[in-house]
Amino acid sequence: MTAARTPAEVRRIAPRAADLAALDVAISDCRACPRLVAWREEVAATRRAAYAGQTYWGRPVPGFGPPDARIAILGLAPAAHGGNRTGRVFTGDRSGDVLFAALHRAGLANQPTSVSADDGLELHDTRIFAAVRCAPPDNKPTPDERDACMPFLRREVELIAPTLRVVVALGAFAWSAWWPALSSVYGTPPPRPRPTFAHGAQWGGGPGLPVLLGCYHVSQQNTFTGRLTAAMLDTVLGRARALADGAV
Ligand code: SF4
Repeated sequence: MTAARTPAEVRRIAPRAADLAALDVAISDCRACPRLVAWREEVAATRRAAYAGQTYWGRPVPGFGPPDARIAILGLAPAAHGGNRTGRVFTGDRSGDVLFAALHRAGLANQPTSVSADDGLELHDTRIFAAVRCAPPDNKPTPDERDACMPFLRREVELIAPTLRVVVALGAFAWSAWWPALSSVYGTPPPRPRPTFAHGAQWGGGPGLPVLLGCYHVSQQNTFTGRLTAAMLDTVLGRARALADGAV
């Protein structure tokens, strides 16, 4: 499979990925967004002082977790010195520290920490991926970059759709990225008006459709200020587990 160098090539290549392994490779090789390619590679070349001795990944970050997951965690984009450094989503930054500790408490991860791609972390019944696969400046992808990356999200959801029961959207950006995926994977038009993102918001479910749960993003902006607490995160993940089990 050749590497995508334009959004049109992403649209052509992503649907052809036969499985998650092929999709992961296609994502990792992508160079379709010039601004993001330049940024991720500049960050990888200059590095943060604390990581000066490390080789950064500096490429798009694929999803992580088993292919038969019933729960998906949908984030915004990799962090410049987190996923863009380690090559694994939410790995090596403070957001990931909060998220994986919560996943471990919920019984969805084998360990509470996520520091490097070879640290032994395994997820149970959960796959994590982002709406945009390259680290953006200021954590803000443009609408064009979000749209360029959307075929990867669609294909990832499509490949796990046979088992997928619950999607936890971390923040409003991920919440809004869900609707086009819903439409193209499940053939269900997005509701009008579209449900507003809120922490604890829930939409969907029913025959053949996963439930969408809203959760404040695990960014330091939210966790350091107490806007998102460990207890709030535990409640959302507990609900996700119960929904996946059909217990609620
Ligand atoms: S954001 Fe997505 S489409 Fe753009 S270069 Fe990265 S992987 Fe490719």
